[in-house]
Amino acid sequence: MTLRVSILGAGVAGLTCALELVERGADVEVLERGDGPGPQSCSWFAGGMLAPWCEEEHAGSLIRLLGEESLPWWERQCSATVQRGTLVVAHERDHAELRQFATRTHAHSSCDAAAVAGLEPDLAGHFQRGLFFGAEAHLDPRRALAELVCRVRARGVTLHWQAEASGRPARGRIRLDCRGLAARDAWPALRGVRGEMLLLRLPELNLTRPVRVLHPRLPLYIVPRGAHTYLLGATQLESDAAGAISVRSMLELLAAAYALHPAFGEAQILESGCGVRPALPDNLPRVRRAGDTLYVNGLYRHGFLIAPALARRVADYLLEGQRIPEVMDEDRGERRLA
Ligand SMILES: Cc1cc2nc3c(=O)[nH]c(=O)nc-3n(C[C@H](O)[C@H](O)[C@H](O)COP(=O)(O)OP(=O)(O)OC[C@H]3O[C@@H](n4cnc5c(N)ncnc54)[C@H](O)[C@@H]3O)c2cc1C
Repeated sequence: MTLRVSILGAGVAGLTCALELVERGADVEVLERGDGPGPQSCSWFAGGMLAPWCEEEHAGSLIRLLGEESLPWWERQCSATVQRGTLVVAHERDHAELRQFATRTHAHSSCDAAAVAGLEPDLAGHFQRGLFFGAEAHLDPRRALAELVCRVRARGVTLHWQAEASGRPARGRIRLDCRGLAARDAWPALRGVRGEMLLLRLPELNLTRPVRVLHPRLPLYIVPRGAHTYLLGATQLESDAAGAISVRSMLELLAAAYALHPAFGEAQILESGCGVRPALPDNLPRVRRAGDTLYVNGLYRHGFLIAPALARRVADYLLEGQRIPEVMDEDRGERRLA
């Protein structure tokens, strides 16, 4: 019998689940309260780094494993995926940060000043040391979301925009709740972690891959978005307040970018924004079942990195009855989620 699934939320979690499930034979519809992928979702503001080995530094091995597994999926499913690795650098006074980062991560090679310049000629003379994570990738999240929408639609998924589900799922349908932070009404342990970003245009600079600058207080990453535009990110504040970027955050992000390269002083600010990351107490993703509803949440700062691997597990569970203990708590039946 065909599995019928209603997915709530068209962020990266909802759309990757939709694609995985429909490709494996399920009958899928998506309900999204916005009128398309947009700034109502956290996914809209993401940097788009697919960096399993860098993220392992603070997130641990589960995120690395899910991320490693997801990389080929993005390369197959999304033409916005670029595999050019990640360059991690630190100013001379912060070289201890770089050494510490190297001991806590894998799959990197050490760079001297010449190697840094070889990878990113515009950084020549700016950094004496770095680490290169050659297998990492990045994508433009907005292009990726648009492409996922096209792909699921082409497979026959019905997308209901400006739709907000309430009450129980329709008879005979499983509900997949991918509402991000909005699912806090059913899962009170969820919290918001505010992330602010800037989009800059800078024709004078040509960076070709994500660059992370380590710093004890103000770490920064820059992700190229093509046409001389760069995403600068991101703050990480324990707050579920959405809304405009604060002056402090903008000053800090811009100061860090200017310290990376003085050319940033001439950049145009195209956009500032803020997304609120849905996080659980241990900052790890989780799948939970309550009756006919399966919740997929807690993607925190790794949504693009890990969503395909989570979606595969959700499909394994729903379509094949497989257990997925690494991400799923026990079946909670009809009880309210704690
Ligand atoms: C500044 C910033 C930078 C980031 N950088 C990266 C990065 O480089 N790499 C990475 O992997 N991750 C990154 N992230 C994290 C990533 O963006 C999140 O993990 C991810 O977006 C969470 O996706 P989600 O689908 O769970 O939630 P969301 O993207 O928030 O999607 C939830 C959707 O549900 C919809 N919804 C809510 N309520 C309802 C309802 N009742 N009915 C219907 N629809 C509803 C919402 O409108 C929304 O579209 C970053 C996040 C931020 C803020």
